[in-house]
Amino acid sequence: MDTQAETFNEDLPPEHSYLGENLESVSGRVILTEGSYVTLPLLPRSYGTLVPGQTFPMTVRDTGRSYLFRKCVETNHTFGCISNRYRSYRDDIGEGSYGTTAEIYEFSDDFGTVCIKAKARQRFKLIKTKRNEGGLLIGELKILPEINLNKPLSSIQCGSLNRVRTTRKEKCYAWEAFLTPWPKWVYDQYDIDKLKDRVDKELRFLKQGLRKDKGKVIMPSDPTELSFWLATHLDAEERYHVNKLDSPIQRIRWQLSLMNKCQQYYCFGCQTQIGQQSDVFAMSIEGAQGIYVNPEGYLHDTMTLINATNLVLISTPSTEFSWFPGYAWSIAVCANCHKHIGWQFIAQKPKLQPRKFYGLTRSSLITKISRDNQQDCDLPVM
Ligand SMILES: [Zn+2]
Repeated sequence: MDTQAETFNEDLPPEHSYLGENLESVSGRVILTEGSYVTLPLLPRSYGTLVPGQTFPMTVRDTGRSYLFRKCVETNHTFGCISNRYRSYRDDIGEGSYGTTAEIYEFSDDFGTVCIKAKARQRFKLIKTKRNEGGLLIGELKILPEINLNKPLSSIQCGSLNRVRTTRKEKCYAWEAFLTPWPKWVYDQYDIDKLKDRVDKELRFLKQGLRKDKGKVIMPSDPTELSFWLATHLDAEERYHVNKLDSPIQRIRWQLSLMNKCQQYYCFGCQTQIGQQSDVFAMSIEGAQGIYVNPEGYLHDTMTLINATNLVLISTPSTEFSWFPGYAWSIAVCANCHKHIGWQFIAQKPKLQPRKFYGLTRSSLITKISRDNQQDCDLPVM
């Protein structure tokens, strides 16, 4: 008898197949020049903070957003998203806010319901806003640059060491550092390969579900992509700060400073503990957190956990519109205050692994750092 478990295909969630098959591809890729000033329509009522590389779906029925998406598809299929939901950043709303351009790559328009799939692309700073004749909110934006630093010590390499550089790389590096006023560990802080090793170690709590090669997590090799891939695991407030930083090395370093803190998740309504970082795992190739849309058009920034506590299920399992193909969902609420926290997902096939997990909506949770580590985890001063 075949008893082999069937592992969930992590490529499936980013496809958002629950939206149906009638979306058409929108071709072409728009790359806006870094440092340039551009005007783009802004999405009214943003739902969170996107970082470049994140995919998200939307279904809208209201006139304003339907008109915006139709106009976008006719032109360069790009619009601007600004985080404006989070109360701690009320002062940042409007001019001076940071956001991300989003590019529509699939689109459908059926009987007044416009459905899109889009991908966040480039960071921007909002300079000013105005309304055009059609009533759309238009933003004048500065596309923020990506500042890539050279590898430390690359400008002072000793030519005499070149013949042994490939075989004795670390020794050469240490010797060249010795010739400078600063110790080697200072340069290590800015070396992308050393930062990647640290990321791999820190991601041990996420390793379940992430693809690995020879025991190491497969992660983007490009520093910019890596810095944003990591940021999809953060909450909206933290992602907002990531979008303010122009250097990928700076973004990765700041995220590493957060990652070695033990985070715990509590109900936003009553502060009952719901989950902890060690239970977070990835069900998607995009990471442990993704944006999904429900049939009513509400977006949920959802984090997957293998275990959760203090939740009560208030519906029978359903496979309809399931974000994770092969799993049935039940609504989960806080056992104490009955606020909606997320969903429990149960495998429908007998061999599908994991058998059960939780998708918790990020806006229903508050994150706390365990007390021992609290002092050095402040957000950077900008
Ligand atoms: Zn609660």
